[in-house]
Amino acid sequence: MTGAPLILYNSLTRSAEPFRPLDPSNVRVYSCGPTVYNYAHVGNLRAYVFTDTLARTIRWKGWPLTHVINITDVGHLTSDADAGDDKMEAAARAQGRDIWAIARHYTDAFKQNLADLNITPPTHLPLATDHVAEMIEWGVRIADRHCYRLADGLYFDTTTVPDYGRLAGAADDAAHARIEAVAGKRHPQDFAIWRATPPGETRQMEWDSPWGRGAPGWHLECSVMAAKYLGPAFDIHTGGIDHREIHHPNEIAQNQAHCECADTGAQLWMHNNFLVDRTGKMSKSSGEFLTLARLVERGFHPLAYRLMCLQAHYRSELEFSWENLAAAQVRLKRLVHAVAALKARGETPATGSAAAYREQLDAALSDDLNTPRALPVLDAMLADKKVSPADRLAMLAEFDAVLGLDLLQRDRAGLRVRPASATIDADTIEARLVERREARAAKDFPRSDAIRDALAAAGVEVMDGDPLGWDWKLNP
Ligand code: AMP
Ligand code: ZN
Repeated sequence: MTGAPLILYNSLTRSAEPFRPLDPSNVRVYSCGPTVYNYAHVGNLRAYVFTDTLARTIRWKGWPLTHVINITDVGHLTSDADAGDDKMEAAARAQGRDIWAIARHYTDAFKQNLADLNITPPTHLPLATDHVAEMIEWGVRIADRHCYRLADGLYFDTTTVPDYGRLAGAADDAAHARIEAVAGKRHPQDFAIWRATPPGETRQMEWDSPWGRGAPGWHLECSVMAAKYLGPAFDIHTGGIDHREIHHPNEIAQNQAHCECADTGAQLWMHNNFLVDRTGKMSKSSGEFLTLARLVERGFHPLAYRLMCLQAHYRSELEFSWENLAAAQVRLKRLVHAVAALKARGETPATGSAAAYREQLDAALSDDLNTPRALPVLDAMLADKKVSPADRLAMLAEFDAVLGLDLLQRDRAGLRVRPASATIDADTIEARLVERREARAAKDFPRSDAIRDALAAAGVEVMDGDPLGWDWKLNP
């Protein structure tokens, strides 16, 4: 490990702590993955930009990392606490499609989202449905001492483990007040380990178990897959802040029941705050929601969204607005432009070194992944004329390694995304811009203005005197 001590905020202790890996030769991180009954919305994707920043920082600081993101393709009910329908079954019914085809389709779309956002692929991306036998084994092991049967399945008695709900902390009461009642549960916070299919019904996804034919409870899959790929004790577990209230306390309870000890599984539990819009938290179940594809349709590059996420600390709420995204896109283009200018310059005499910027970057990231603090360091480094262009470009590789903006590889043209509603193509724009330059050279300003107005009408903004040249205009 190099540089400053890495300090991370642990939701379990509600404090920032120095990170000490259990095994420095293999840091192990588990991130709750998407429920694949629909596309990920951009709020979900904020969770993976956060885990990618964590993963990149760990690797950059010199620790080898094993990272798991699971795919939830069974078990997640419309309420996090065992009430309602299985989200996957409901989607399959509503769309009249095969549930396995739905899972495959949205899993592939999720992988594409990760690639578009330059998120490093995790070491393992296991599917819950590939681990049902192991979930049943886990259930069998804890059933006698920690569970009870109800007509509709096997339930976990949360009073059988020490300190249930410690992770939820103050959020506990509010969360449990929202839990919808399941008849017969001993305590409102008890949860399903196995959900038996009601008599006379069949589900598209169901398996035989000692508790009847049915499907596993959602919380069980994460305990099982984390232990399988990372071992019973591992370093960090991540998820969105909603998981701090129900899903993660339930995982901890299952882990404690399984080991018959007080260990929580992960040492550190980290949670990203929500992406919100003016109407509140973004959610998939609320119908209309924003996907990465919709941002691209409107002319935004996926990395502009990544930058927008990095501009906020992961534990702060972040408000989505088209204005914020447009500002991030301009900032990204300016960064790429600055890099292009450095590449174009030959070796020039320099009096300074870039090393101090590495230290500042390290200090920002080591302070609980403070990316908003790292970004101005990047600006200052790129603009520092005392450091030679070659040294600045070499230092940029370090920033790219952790921020994942891929600035060394991108060019301006690649960041121009044609909005789906645009009525003109890039070659025609270039041709019109040449005509316009000629008109201006001939001092034919009425003609040059007319060309600019015609481009604007087609959704293209021409920025005179701006190094960025032209850009697709937003059509909100
Ligand atoms: P899901 O696909 O609903 O299981 O959620 C995938 C991940 O996204 C989980 O870690 C959630 O906690 C997280 N998440 C859900 N909504 C948001 C949001 N609006 N902003 C940030 N993260 C979210
Ligand atoms: Zn999970």
